[in-house]
Amino acid sequence: MIPLSIPNISGNEEQYVLEALRSQWVSTAGGYIVEFEKKFANYLELEGACACQSGTAGLHLCLEHFGIGEGDRVIVPTLTFIAPINAVRYQKAVPVFFDCLENFCIDVRQVEEYIETQCIWDGQELKEKESGSRVKAIIPVHVFGEPCDMEMIMDIADRYRLIVIEDATESLGTRLDKGKYKGKYTGTIGHAGVFSFNGNKIITTGGGGMIVSKNQEALEHMRYLSQQAKDNMMYFIHNEVGYNYRMTNLQAAVGLGQLERIDEFINIKQKWFKLYEKLLENCPWGMIQKFEVGENANHWFYSFKLYKESEETRDRLIKYLEEQGIQTRPIWHLNHLQKPYKQFKAMPCHKAENALKRTINIPCSTNLTEEEVRRVAFAISSFR
Ligand SMILES: *Cc1c(COP(=O)(O)O)cnc(C)c1O
Repeated sequence: MIPLSIPNISGNEEQYVLEALRSQWVSTAGGYIVEFEKKFANYLELEGACACQSGTAGLHLCLEHFGIGEGDRVIVPTLTFIAPINAVRYQKAVPVFFDCLENFCIDVRQVEEYIETQCIWDGQELKEKESGSRVKAIIPVHVFGEPCDMEMIMDIADRYRLIVIEDATESLGTRLDKGKYKGKYTGTIGHAGVFSFNGNKIITTGGGGMIVSKNQEALEHMRYLSQQAKDNMMYFIHNEVGYNYRMTNLQAAVGLGQLERIDEFINIKQKWFKLYEKLLENCPWGMIQKFEVGENANHWFYSFKLYKESEETRDRLIKYLEEQGIQTRPIWHLNHLQKPYKQFKAMPCHKAENALKRTINIPCSTNLTEEEVRRVAFAISSFR
């Protein structure tokens, strides 16, 4: 079986973990955590970072830190893994769902239209007309490693004082290719950005996440919250409600080994992507989804898109590939249709509905062999 996406652990991870184990520093304190934070921040050309237990925990900490609370509206895409939406609900805040563009990222013009037609700006606060609730934040998700239109998002956020929390969990290493933020990494543009090191992400720590921000005080506060808001270690004094969200030294040891190879991993992701693209160029019923920013994308996850909108064909293709020992799957079920979320407001999401019916993710691990990539492409081409 050729799996969809598996980790590539073949560098210094083992050595670092062994050192961490032998040092007895296995838990939420230790040198590797601090070193991982530092090197991660360096990679993104930032001053600091805050390591945590998962990307979801990182998103939650951001929402808590920026004061997103009960009833507050948060602008989110419907086409995303569900984690950022769940994090909104941990705070009892309310997601407002938006459609995507052809590149799978949030339709920012639709966001602007919502603000202009369904909200009121009084010069201080943005409020939804219907509910009277404040619209406080937006969580753009850089889907599969393709960046959202951050220039337009930041422009809207500046105008209406929205907090921008970038869900960069899938886009480590992706840079913006034009405009005001040209050359900047995704995750470093908003008020905060969150990365994930889950097993299928471009680098992994088994499970883990990282928050970045240009605001060092914000990072420090989130680090404090992630460690049970402990003000005095000796006497156990806590002045806020904290969380047990700190990364462990063992996870950070894996992360350091992985981070050493980020450039190599991105190169491989790009190489296999190009090969797929070439091999499937003449496929009559579908194509490899392009990354609009080209070489600036980390090419984390690959998508094959049918020309025709057909759930039936999509599922038949998945089954056909499975029979040939190739694991694929549809992109995410839309969040505004999920049971806990269908009660909330959603804009028309036709493009996301269309994308879901047409698209599957195909094997994209960095440890694929050329022969395997050719096998997958051949199998897709031979589908009838
Ligand atoms: C992976 C992922 C997350 C969550 O990361 P975890 O580390 O698994 O909690 C959040 N958002 C998106 C879009 C993801 O793909």
